[in-house]
Amino acid sequence: MTDITKEIEKRRTFAIISHPDAGKTTLTEKFLLYGGAINLAGSVKGKATARHAVSDWMEIEKERGISVTSSVLQFNYDGFCINILDTPGHQDFSEDTYRTLMAADSAVMVIDASKGVEAQTRKLFKVCVMRHIPIFTFINKLDRDANDTFELLDEIEKELGIATCPINWPIGSGKNFKGVYDRNTRKVTIYTDTEKGTKEGTATEIDVDSPELEAFIGMENKEQLMEEIELLDGASAEFDQDMVNIGELSPVFFGSALTNFGVEIFLRNFLDMTSSPLPRKSDAGEVDPMTNDFSAFVFKIQANMNKAHRDRIAFMRICSGEFDAGMEVFHVQGNKKLRLSQPQQMMAQERHIVDHAYAGDIIGVFDPGIFSIGDTICAPGQKFQYEGIPTFAPEHFARVRQVDTMKRKQFVKGISQIAQEGAIQIFQEFNTGMEEIIVGVVGVLQFEVLKYRLQNEYNVEIILENLPYEHIRWIENKEIDLDMLTGTSDMKKIKDLKGNPLLLWVNSWSIGMTLDRNKGLVLSEFGR
Ligand code: GDP
Repeated sequence: MTDITKEIEKRRTFAIISHPDAGKTTLTEKFLLYGGAINLAGSVKGKATARHAVSDWMEIEKERGISVTSSVLQFNYDGFCINILDTPGHQDFSEDTYRTLMAADSAVMVIDASKGVEAQTRKLFKVCVMRHIPIFTFINKLDRDANDTFELLDEIEKELGIATCPINWPIGSGKNFKGVYDRNTRKVTIYTDTEKGTKEGTATEIDVDSPELEAFIGMENKEQLMEEIELLDGASAEFDQDMVNIGELSPVFFGSALTNFGVEIFLRNFLDMTSSPLPRKSDAGEVDPMTNDFSAFVFKIQANMNKAHRDRIAFMRICSGEFDAGMEVFHVQGNKKLRLSQPQQMMAQERHIVDHAYAGDIIGVFDPGIFSIGDTICAPGQKFQYEGIPTFAPEHFARVRQVDTMKRKQFVKGISQIAQEGAIQIFQEFNTGMEEIIVGVVGVLQFEVLKYRLQNEYNVEIILENLPYEHIRWIENKEIDLDMLTGTSDMKKIKDLKGNPLLLWVNSWSIGMTLDRNKGLVLSEFGR
């Protein structure tokens, strides 16, 4: 095995998806703890300053104390090199959050045991399904009163349409939480609060058939566990690695990230059940990560890290081979050879310059304004392109008005550039041109980012007039006669800059009604 192959085989690149407050940050923190990347848990969120240092790229972040960008954390654990892609939530939820999933090889879905499947998880989950990547479920906060375990699994299956296979099983919850039972080894790991999760702690394991078990978990719990094991073995889907690989079966784990219980069990199984980077599709066939030379695609562009230079950082996911800082590469869409300058990577919470990176890794490079989202970079002499990144459905829309109409040119230039970076999407009225611009965003904060950037970088002041629409679909079958379309009263026809027709609605049920009224109409939540 060559050194490059060895490096790539060590790689695991995944994203954590969840609804805000389910425990994504806490779980990430505990992963880093096992990796030795941090000594004491509590630093990912607690250390606000450290978090700022890495993602504090835009003025707006500083002003509001939140992170607009998503970042990548890399750490080593047990011979693996792990890349965790952060998918920002709360107000900073944006199209970037979705795009980040395009760079991941698998996803970990964190669910709060007392809340079940929540809105943001549902949205992110859809993107994972579209990509057919493995999805692992970590049901968190078992140290608090949880919903019935069978009901939780049922909810995941019904709401998300994925089969589940519990790898372990919780014994009680809240004050009565006693531990988890491993269905493979038939051992119970007894719950201990590992000093509020700051230490790795030593776990007590007892065979489920051992007479000692009762002393640890009590008679009632033991009886219930035995009943549930029986039910489970009869009712739940069997573990099937092939189904996991294509994202049709989700292995489920239970634990409590805060008290650091069940986290290492999860991490070990996760590493076993996932693979190093796999071949990716390109227009020249599949590209093998191990045997091919360097190649990567841009999945995110972060603007204006340094106001004085108005520069940008292009984030790329390496898909094959090795990246070497000094090497010459070929930018396929630009049809140009170049050197990537200032390549950087995140190690735990620090950004640093990289000399070498491998398939599976994410690097950020200085972008003088030449890259677009979805662009392919490869070794000179090669010319393939990776499959493009879709456009994701915005959920908030506003009409944009310029305060000073004399600055028309700057306005169009500014808004087009910001749209090209992928921070916002711009649309037009169906029958008119650029004079009426409608902006669509995935997260409302992007409206403010747009306003701020137009003012600061292009000296253009705008007024945003919110529109009531919340649902958008791309029309897939272009041959449909749009003038003949029978819509609902809350429907609006618009087009994107390429002239593709789209439909907007205020109410979600209107989408179904529109489909009913127009036989043959095909709609999509993703634009191409
Ligand atoms: P995120 O928004 O998904 O990143 O969630 P955080 O990791 O920030 O967690 C949200 C809140 O839930 C914080 O107050 C955490 O301390 C708490 N929390 C996270 N995991 C657990 C857990 O396993 N048990 C309990 N009781 N609280 C937890």
